[in-house]
Amino acid sequence: MARRGIIAYPDIRLRAAARPITANDTQLSALAGDLRDTLCVTGGIALSAPQIGVPLQVLVLDLSARGDALEYYVNPRILARAAWGFVEESCLSLPGVTASVLRATRVRLTAQDLTGARFERDVDGLRAVCLQHEIDHLAGRLFVDRLDPLRRLYWHATAGRRARAAA
Ligand code: ZN
Repeated sequence: MARRGIIAYPDIRLRAAARPITANDTQLSALAGDLRDTLCVTGGIALSAPQIGVPLQVLVLDLSARGDALEYYVNPRILARAAWGFVEESCLSLPGVTASVLRATRVRLTAQDLTGARFERDVDGLRAVCLQHEIDHLAGRLFVDRLDPLRRLYWHATAGRRARAAA
C-alpha cells in the first residue's frame, strides 16, 4: 500500500471513463489500500481510483468524523435519485474551487464490496452527495460540469488562471 499523487485538473486522465472491475483484477485490494492511504493524508472525505491515475471503477468514502467506518464501492451504479437540492462541493482534483451543484440528497445505488459481493443501499445527505460526485469521476465527469451554463462559461474562462494560481 502506498500514498499516491492526486491528479489535478486539467489532466485529461480525469476525463476518461473508468473500466469496471472484473474477477481478473487481482490488484483490487492493493488499489483499495492505496486509495485509503492517499485519502487519509488529504483531509478529504472521498476519493476515486481515476484521481490517482487508475482507470478502474473503485472509490472510497471516509465519513469517520461522523463515527462511520471506511466504505469501499466497486462498480457502483445509481438506481434512483430523489430530493434534489443545491449542495456546496469541492474536489481534491480541483484545489481551491468550491461551487454549488444541484444533486439528489437521496439515492439508491448498487455496488460490489471488496470481496465482489453485490449489494443495494439507500443513502442520503452527505453520503449521497459524495457518492454522486465520486461516481461522476468514474465516468470522467467533474462537479464543475454540473454548473448551470452561465457559471460553467465563467468557470472555463477563468480555469487557466486558477490552475496557475494553485500550482
Ligand atoms: Zn472530486
